[in-house]
Amino acid sequence: MEMKIGFIGLGIMGSRMAANLQKHGYPLVVFNRTGSKAESLLANGAEWAASPAAVAGQVEVLFTMLAHPEAVKEAALGKDGFLAHLAPDALWVDCSTVNPSFSKQMAAEADTRGVHFLGAPVSGSKTQAADGTLIFWVGGTALDLVSSWELLNCMGTKIVHAGGPGLGAALKLVINQLLGTTMAAFAEGIVLGQALGLNREVLFESLLSTPAAAPFLTAKREKIEKGNYAADFPLRWLQKDLHLAAVSAYETGVAMPLTNVAKEIYRFAIREGDGDKDFSAIYHYLARDCEVMPKGNGHLVQSDALRDRLQRTECL
Ligand code: NAP
Repeated sequence: MEMKIGFIGLGIMGSRMAANLQKHGYPLVVFNRTGSKAESLLANGAEWAASPAAVAGQVEVLFTMLAHPEAVKEAALGKDGFLAHLAPDALWVDCSTVNPSFSKQMAAEADTRGVHFLGAPVSGSKTQAADGTLIFWVGGTALDLVSSWELLNCMGTKIVHAGGPGLGAALKLVINQLLGTTMAAFAEGIVLGQALGLNREVLFESLLSTPAAAPFLTAKREKIEKGNYAADFPLRWLQKDLHLAAVSAYETGVAMPLTNVAKEIYRFAIREGDGDKDFSAIYHYLARDCEVMPKGNGHLVQSDALRDRLQRTECL
């Protein structure tokens, strides 16, 4: 019998990851809370299951790509949860971004039922999910990773085995802690520069060409410039990740003052209605009600061209 793959969670990321498994010829059985998000997968041959439990009965490998630990727990262990219905020796791969202690708890729950478990959260966003160029940060046994290798390779181009249960989640949270604090710091800098009278284009050109700016910020420039914050990564999930980092810090006795401040800034932005926007909308939140100059001063041209232009200005 052909191996069927289960996929639960068909949001921005999950729908695209599942589509890549499908493109590689794997038959899918899918479930999502909002059924309409499965339409294009179903049109391409996937089977719909009425509940997480109904997915589990039909598959050897099951992927979850859900918003947060509560959604994962509900799908796995809630009413109509899948875990009690997976065959012993089946493999559950949770790609959702969750906290390490939760991921360890899910590994233990799976283990008591003889089900194999990998925590395999991803880096990369909507585009990388669509292109199959995600990075997987994996926590679990090497044997389980090897058995899922071909499937992960349909969706990503890099796989890092971080260690045992919970360690994929640990690596992912550290990365997103950096992503969230960096985005907020960059947005603050741009707003300050504009308030001081600098041209925003000059700010972008200058900051993004220095080592001080993280590479991912270049991809956020267009969203900020156009004021179009259609979500690649929803701000509310970034805030969730900062919260999960803070919870993990509490559990391990680490102090994370920067992360906690950034977390609360994003919370204010959610309260102002920015939760479903891309997380780069934190600029929009910080710039709101500020006297930022739309144009500001400054010249974009550099070196010789700039000297010539300044000379011409002097001659006038
Ligand atoms: P999304 O589009 O909002 O999708 C979230 C998924 O979780 C949907 O399937 C949604 O179902 C489901 N869900 C949410 N709350 C639920 C609940 N209470 N009960 C049951 N299902 C629930 O978000 P996404 O961007 O795909 O994110 C999915 C995961 O990937 C998150 O853990 C996120 O942190 C992580 N991630 C995202 C990115 C990114 O750039 N977007 C990158 C790396 C990792 P409905 O469709 O019914 O709402």
